[in-house]
Amino acid sequence: MVIPIVPTTLRPCRACGADEERGQARTVVIGEDRLLVTWHLSHCPHYLADFVLADRDS
Ligand SMILES: [Zn+2]
Repeated sequence: MVIPIVPTTLRPCRACGADEERGQARTVVIGEDRLLVTWHLSHCPHYLADFVLADRDS
């Protein structure tokens, strides 16, 4: 099995505004052709929401 190498896109969070330097946690969303990595502060509501969704999938 070949694991495709997909481009990774870093996105600043719209809710907490964390970027690669200030972020404390990351969420990763697998898109159709790329990985979307978003940095968050630890108390960011978006990060908490993503964490719940990810937990629910497993
Ligand atoms: Zn955030």
